[in-house]
Amino acid sequence: MLESAYTPGVGLTVGVDVGGTKLLAAIVDGSGKIQHRLVKETSGAATPAVVQAIGELLSSSTEKVSSVGVAAAAYIAYPEGRVAFSPNVEYGEPDIKMAVAGAFDVDVVVENDANAAAWGERLYGAARGVDDMIMVTVGTGIGGGIVTGGRLYRGAGGFAGEFGHMTILEGGPQCACGDAGCFEAMASGTAIERMAAERKIGPDQAATTGELVDALARNGDQAAVDVLSEAGRWLGIGVSNLINLFDPALVVIGGGVAEAGDLLLVPARMEVQRRIGPRRQPPRIVAAELGNEAGAIGVAALTNEEFERG
Ligand SMILES: [Zn+2]
Repeated sequence: MLESAYTPGVGLTVGVDVGGTKLLAAIVDGSGKIQHRLVKETSGAATPAVVQAIGELLSSSTEKVSSVGVAAAAYIAYPEGRVAFSPNVEYGEPDIKMAVAGAFDVDVVVENDANAAAWGERLYGAARGVDDMIMVTVGTGIGGGIVTGGRLYRGAGGFAGEFGHMTILEGGPQCACGDAGCFEAMASGTAIERMAAERKIGPDQAATTGELVDALARNGDQAAVDVLSEAGRWLGIGVSNLINLFDPALVVIGGGVAEAGDLLLVPARMEVQRRIGPRRQPPRIVAAELGNEAGAIGVAALTNEEFERG
């Protein structure tokens, strides 16, 4: 029998979402509400920064916390809670679960950040109540999460949902993972920056960022609109593959680059319609709702659920 309903626990859980440049650590209650939060810029190894942030958060709170969930941008072996491969973030100590459990007397779950974000959106965000959904997070890289039959799908070792490294264009641009032509190399913020630099969009003296292209695009710069439109088209190609694989009822697009909104989503939807539409009604493709809190909220819920169920 499939368990599609999450019963909120009574306990408080720390959820930490760690990315390349900053981390969010939050005390989250059983209904997904953040009670306290801490945002830190990170430089250097991420695992010691995670341990330090948890310590600061716990010492600033009088509430009883018995479990900690960490959402990390990396291939995370589950249930071991260990970084297996991380093209975008340097962790220093790959055994995140061991590092956190060794520092605090708590139960620990470590999960891929996009898996955690998908679960957060499924419980409390854009995919509330949707038992079959896909999330694609578009930021520096591209991550993904799969919810099927109301449960997060992790695969055999925790590595399911690494959509970013599907090959989309054989012989295409270099990806941070070492391969070339990955989904991430075609449609992420990094890819947008590459396209903008190639087309000399933005001021010469500044590094061109996806956000800059977005700002230019909103001001009607046609070359910038074209870059986002092309990234959106590649996004639509990748999402079409995922629809063929998983037949989700809903596709949620999150991550920092998704804040470009319709500039990215409209061309993505058009590409999906072109590829999937002639065969069947495509699922809705919507923007995420929880923003940069999805990972912390989602991993807290996953952690709570794991230890509530025993
Ligand atoms: Zn790759």
